[in-house]
Amino acid sequence: MSKGSIGVTTNNIFPVIKKFLYSDHEIFLRELVSNAVDATQKLKTLAIAGDFNESTDGLKVTVSVNKDAGTLTVSDNGIGMTAEDVDKYINQIAFSGAEEFLNKYKDSANAIIGHFGLGFYSAFMVAKKVEIRTKSYHQDAPAVLWSCDGSPEYEMSECDKTSRGTDIVLYIDDEEKEFLEQSRINTLLNKYCKFLPVPVVFGKEQEWKDGKYVDTEKDKVINDIEPLWARKPSELKDEDYIKFYHAIQPAQDDPLFWIHLNVDYPFTLTGILYFPKIKNNLDIRKDRIQLYCNQVFVTDSVEGVVPEFMMLLQGVIDSPDIPLNVSRSYLQADRNVKKISSYITKKVASRLEEIAKTDAKAFEEKWNDIKIFIEYGMLSDEKFQESASKFALLQNTDGKFFKLEEYKELIKTNQTDKDGNLVYLYTTNKEEQYPYIKAAQDKGYDVLLMDGQLDIPFVGMMEQKNEKTRFVRVDSDVVDNLVRKEDAKDNELTTQEREVATTLFKSQIPAIEKSEFMVTYAPMAPEAQPVVITQSEYMRRMKDMAVFQPGMSFYGEFPNAYNFTLNTNHPLIKRVISDATATVGAELKPLDEELTATNAVIKAIRDLDKDNKGVPEDKKEDLKKNEDKAQALRDKKEEIVARYAAGQDTVKQLIDIALLGNGLLKGEALTAFLKRSVDLL
Ligand code: ADP
Repeated sequence: MSKGSIGVTTNNIFPVIKKFLYSDHEIFLRELVSNAVDATQKLKTLAIAGDFNESTDGLKVTVSVNKDAGTLTVSDNGIGMTAEDVDKYINQIAFSGAEEFLNKYKDSANAIIGHFGLGFYSAFMVAKKVEIRTKSYHQDAPAVLWSCDGSPEYEMSECDKTSRGTDIVLYIDDEEKEFLEQSRINTLLNKYCKFLPVPVVFGKEQEWKDGKYVDTEKDKVINDIEPLWARKPSELKDEDYIKFYHAIQPAQDDPLFWIHLNVDYPFTLTGILYFPKIKNNLDIRKDRIQLYCNQVFVTDSVEGVVPEFMMLLQGVIDSPDIPLNVSRSYLQADRNVKKISSYITKKVASRLEEIAKTDAKAFEEKWNDIKIFIEYGMLSDEKFQESASKFALLQNTDGKFFKLEEYKELIKTNQTDKDGNLVYLYTTNKEEQYPYIKAAQDKGYDVLLMDGQLDIPFVGMMEQKNEKTRFVRVDSDVVDNLVRKEDAKDNELTTQEREVATTLFKSQIPAIEKSEFMVTYAPMAPEAQPVVITQSEYMRRMKDMAVFQPGMSFYGEFPNAYNFTLNTNHPLIKRVISDATATVGAELKPLDEELTATNAVIKAIRDLDKDNKGVPEDKKEDLKKNEDKAQALRDKKEEIVARYAAGQDTVKQLIDIALLGNGLLKGEALTAFLKRSVDLL
């Protein structure tokens, strides 16, 4: 027997290891099983090189627990170690590795993710004593027993192990008894070791016998040694991909598409990414893509490795080139990781383009399920946006799909306004905005359906990226003004008619919470609607966008600003306006005259302020008096019209019908409308 002291300066590094990695003790199993797998792989490599002549069949790793002895053992029949190997790899190299690790991360315990590199010593996170029993593939080398109880001293002696390979025996700490539980170990093996390339055995297969489960002779292998992503795409069928998807993402619908990633230059990466059905539910769960390093599970939080929008996808990525034992911010800045991220983006885009090209119909059918993903990508990733504009689709209200370029061609002739802007008309609700859609279609326009969760920001992006492009919701103006072909015609109302009509309607619009109305005029076709309520595209969109951008939330507080547009060519409108003017005209006339005179006085006083130094002191009072007088006259006029309007059922009826058509007539106002309608009958 020999004794030695491990080459570290810290008196006892193991308590430090335990403390440091407290939250993640379970990874010791991943480390030990990985080492065991490596040991078998090394033997294979030797065999291929001709340095090992025995059979390499039956290489495996076995994990077992012995609750009575309080031990957990990881065994392999791999390369094994000689006494010199143990001295070199365990006593010197590995220990110094552990120390280096601790020094490096002393101040940033939180920054530790993926603890590769700690390797063998992670055993001391859960064990009070560790034994290595190992026999090298060199046949004449005696077997070695190494033992260490967590102090820097170890013992080494020969032992009676006869078979090739290594057993790592962990005497589990009293505080870590959970690692002696069959079910706990089973869970951990499934998490970290499910796709390791060498069979990992844990217990025996069971069978139902005499009313209970009993062990059979057969080893229970917990892993799939050749996971799908490690196989050649040409060997695989759709069913294989779907089956694998369900294995890694239980309880999900079938995926829509998948992409098999496979690169070996300038970095190594394999993997499969699936497009799940997302519908309109933009919930980014961050654990849908699993990251592996040579088939060893590392993490399912892949932020920084793939672009944010890709996190809507599911699947696996396997790359030995992703640095695993560094902090997240470092990960994001890593050049390899950046390359990987942009490679994945490119690959996903080109795969989608290919599907859109080769199977346009299937792509259209699935469009509504992947649209949110693609829009999200286009909004958040410049590169993806460029490539996706080749295959992204627009859908119109008839359910037809168009590529962006195609759609441009379709509407070019009809929907270019006088300033050369291409006007895309859209609706966010086919049912509610139906009359507007119909009016636009009757005019020969095409209307897009934009009812997705990200359509509003998408529309904004389209306008920004494409020159001379405007998106206009069908209800944002009267149909004649949606695509302005010529400058607006003056409407034929006289000033007085306009004044009267404005008060006539405005005074009768019921108060609606958070809504403001402005009466405007448009000479539309006589058979068009008498009143059209529209909502300014700009303000409405600001409010819509407020939902997506926290800094804009004040827009959300603004009232809805509606235009209450009177069709001045409609016979009913013509009639109510001329009736009103005729009736109240005489009463308004003296007021108008007085108002004109007062306004003239006000103007004369203001004109004294030619050099912008302000109205002379001695005139100020006079000005104020006249301004008050003018206001009083205007109020009086409004009062006269409003009093008249209050008795006009036709006006009220016209208003309520328009409000009703926009879902704005509610409560008391609705009841009044119904009653009035019955009375009118
Ligand atoms: P790493 O695996 O990162 O090199 P470890 O501390 O896990 O670091 O292991 C140190 C070395 O000990 C390994 O590189 C290997 O040479 C040797 N080793 C560990 N476990 C085994 C094993 N089961 N069989 C053979 N050699 C092993």
